[in-house]
Formats: sequence, C-alpha cells, structure tokens
Amino acid sequence: MPRKHTRADRGAASPRTVRSHQELEFRALLDAAVDAIIVVDHHGTIEEFSRAAQQLFGYTPDEIIGRNVRELMPDPYRSEHDGYMHRYMTTGEARIIGTGREVRAQRKDGSVFPCDLSVGHVRGIDPPRFIGFISDITARKLAEERLRRSETELQLAQKLANLGNYVMHPGGDTADYFSPQLHRILGVDESERRIVRDEYLDRWVHPADRKRVSEAFSRMDAGQAPLDIEYQVVLKDGSVKHLHHIAQAMLGPDGTILKHVGTIHDVTDRRRAEDEARVLQERLTHFSRLSTMGEMAAGLAHEINQPLAAIATYAQACQRLIRQPDHDVEDVLAALEQINAQALRAGEVIRRLRNFVKNREVKREPVNCSRLLEDLRTLAETDARLHNIRLRLDCEEPLPTVYADPIQLQQVILNLVRNAIDAMSEAPEDRREVVLTTRMAADREVEITVIDQGTGLAPEATEHLFNPFFTTKSSGTGLGLAISRSIVRAHGGRLWHTPNDVCGARFHFTLPVSPAVTTGE
Ligand code: ADP
Repeated sequence: MPRKHTRADRGAASPRTVRSHQELEFRALLDAAVDAIIVVDHHGTIEEFSRAAQQLFGYTPDEIIGRNVRELMPDPYRSEHDGYMHRYMTTGEARIIGTGREVRAQRKDGSVFPCDLSVGHVRGIDPPRFIGFISDITARKLAEERLRRSETELQLAQKLANLGNYVMHPGGDTADYFSPQLHRILGVDESERRIVRDEYLDRWVHPADRKRVSEAFSRMDAGQAPLDIEYQVVLKDGSVKHLHHIAQAMLGPDGTILKHVGTIHDVTDRRRAEDEARVLQERLTHFSRLSTMGEMAAGLAHEINQPLAAIATYAQACQRLIRQPDHDVEDVLAALEQINAQALRAGEVIRRLRNFVKNREVKREPVNCSRLLEDLRTLAETDARLHNIRLRLDCEEPLPTVYADPIQLQQVILNLVRNAIDAMSEAPEDRREVVLTTRMAADREVEITVIDQGTGLAPEATEHLFNPFFTTKSSGTGLGLAISRSIVRAHGGRLWHTPNDVCGARFHFTLPVSPAVTTGE
C-alpha cells in the first residue's frame, strides 16, 4: 500500500481529528465545486481528490490518494507526464500549468473521456503543489460533433438540391446568414458585403419580373401571405437563372418585421427542360392537328370529288338539253335524277366519313388516373406558370385503373386546362388557380374534374360549346371541346360542365373502370 498523504497529515497536531478553520473551508470548497479538483505534489502524487472527481473518475479517496496522477490519463499523456513534471520543476517551462487545455482522461473502468483541464501552481509552500480543475466536456463534444455533422450534411444536401437558405434582418444591426450554396446560386463571393432587399430587387431580379416580385415581397411583409414565387435573376456575368423563392417574415409583438427567413431553389435546369418539352409538345400538337385535318381534307376531297364532278356534268347536260327548242323533258328529268343520286352519294360519303372519325379505334391499356395527372402536371404546369396560374392536384387514393388511351386522355385534360387558363386571364391574383381532381363516381366510373375560377360560361354559349368551330376567342379554333367530347365518348365516358361554386366553371368527364365498348353517336 502506498503511503497516503492528506492535508490533515501536514502541519496538524493530531491528524484527522483537529482541523483548522482554513482546512475545513478548503474541504467544503473542494466538495462543493462542480468541476473535479485534484491536488498533486511535485512528483505527481495525488493528495486531494474532490467529490466531483470521485464521481467523474469512479475512484474513492482511499483508492486514489497517494497514487500518481498519470493513472488518470490515457496514453500518450500517461507516458509523457513524468517528463512534463520534471521539465517544469527544473526549467519552469510550462505546457499546461497556468493555462487551460483540452485533454483526455481515463476513468477507473478504463473508459476515456474528453475534458478541459486547467492547472495552477500553489506557490509559497514546500514542496510545491499543483491544483488541477477538470470538467467533463463529453456532452459538449458530442453536441459539437452532431452540429458539425448536421451542418456538413445540410451543406451537402443544399449542394445536391441546388438550394440555399438565408436569414435577413431588415434593420441591419443583427448579422444576416446566407448559406454557402446560396452564394453559389447568386454568383457572389462569401466575403462580399451583405445583400439587402432593395438591392436584390434592383441588381438581381430580372426587370420583367421585378414588379411581380416586389408586390409579393410587400404581401409577405404585410403578413398577408408567405412568399412562394418563381422568377428569373440576372447574375453579374449576365447569365440568367430561374429561382423558386419561398420565405416568411417573422413579426414582433408590435407587428414590426424582425427577420425574413427563406429558401431559394435554383430550378434553371428543370425549367429549361420543361420549356424545351413544351416547345416540342406545341410543335407536335400543331403537326398532329395539321396532319389529321390534312388527311381528313384529302380523304374528303377525293371521296366527294367524284359525285361532284358527276353532278357538274349532268347539270351541264341539263343546260344543253333545255336550250334545244324541241328538247325531250324525259331526258332532262333523267339528268336531274342523276344529279339527285350523285348528291345523295356525296351525302353518304360524308356520313360514312363522320362515322369513321367517330368510331376510330383507340389504343386501350390500364391507366392509373392519379398517375396520369402527375405525369401531365409538368406539361400543364409550364403553361400555367407562363400565365402566372397555380396548378393543384387533388387525387382521391386509391383509385381503380381505367381502360383508356393515355395519350388521348392527356389531350383531353390539356385542352380543359388550357381553356381554364384562358378563362382566368383577367382574374385577380388570389383566384388564379386551376384544380384537377380525381375521384370514384357512381357506377364504377372514375371522374376527373378541371376547376377554374375564371369568367364562367355565358348562358347563350352553353348550348353551342361542343359544336365544332364554336369559339369566343379571337385566336380559338373551337375544336377543343368537340374533339375532347368525341375522345371521352369513344372511351365510353361522358363530358359535361357545371358552374363552379362562386365563379368560373367545372368541366367533368368520366371513364368506366372496366373495359367498355366503343360507342358511336
Ligand atoms: P377554343 O378554346 O379553341 O375556342 P373550345 O372548344 O376549347 O375551343 O372551347 C369553346 C368555347 O367554350 C371557348 O371559346 C369558350 O368560350 C368556352 N369555354 C371553354 N372552356 C371554358 C371555361 N373553362 N370557362 C369559360 N368558357 C369556356
């Protein structure tokens, strides 16, 4: 057993029984301290071991007092400690003494933990003593590590998503925060001075979008609506980016703005791809319309040309016959009969052609309507965004599949959405939304509805809506609804409209769940 030194042993007449006032005060202080306190002599032998030290290291005073303090250290501190002590005692060169330092310590059970250590030299006594204060920083280190990790992960996530975030203070007296990715998106250096709102509007936001963005900022500041807007910015190098900006103003109790918190998502690549897809789609739609009409016109011309030519020939024959002074009425009647027969034949050609168009075979496959709407969203959304209109899907789940030609269904829905967008061209900001819903209707039918808050339908227009070439638009074709209805009917469904609750229109169509027989008119 090593001999144990205690303060009571030193200088007291009767060890452990009589303690000086100072001695008692020192003990009380030692035990009250939150930090672990250890007193060692010039050899590193432990003389005092506070209550907090006992709890932290797991030793009782009997176990540890008299042993060398290096036993509380893991390597390399343990093997280097004697050298430190010796150097300090002979040269006065201090590594830790007089300053604080972060080190690692070892408990009785061998576990190692990080701690802050500060050591003081108790001067004026011989031999010299040293007093060490140790505070366990495991929790702080863990929190720091967790924070560091989540910050690294957040930065990586922001980089991958091309999304940055910020906190801005209008007064300018509290430091703003801009994430590194936000700096990259806006093409500014992190060391540049802070970006203020007005400067952002003037310097970054594209002139064409400035008014809209400024109005949205004002609505957010007035607490009317959080910011959720897409616009373009022009960077210093002249390049243009599309951003999706979401933000909120945090207000104080008196309504003043404390800060703006927001995210900015660089959606340039997605928008470009969508714009290209839209242009392509427009071209395709244009071509398909042209070619369908062209084919129909060519077929129609060919089929009708023959009876028309025959009618012309018989009409000329009639003229010739009638001009003859002694013409035979029977001959004229026979020619007129031919004219009549050929006219009926032309009528029959047209009727057959109409039937052919109506009964045109459609390519059927099982279609999930909600997924169809999701797929269509990108195309429809591009169109909607261009007209500053929000598009919302509200799909009942789960829905049974319908048996349909997905391309034709998309054409129908795009048509209805296009009409809804047109109908809202003059609508105020809060009404500029098209809602697409899917739900299970009666009789094993799925119902898809396109809802707008536009002009609604004039009563005098409603009875002509589905007639081909009926349009109220200067550049309309009047074919959209007629074609849509014939497609829906070919699928065994119905297309109709109802007024929307407050304003605008709802266009509904149904599709049977099970395979349906194609029907003509
Ligand atoms: P187009 O849109 O090319 O004129 P459509 O057949 O799609 O041809 O529509 C015919 C007409 O029906 C439109 O011109 C318009 O007057 C009316 N209409 C269609 N959808 C709506 C709607 N959602 N709201 C108001 N009117 C509509």
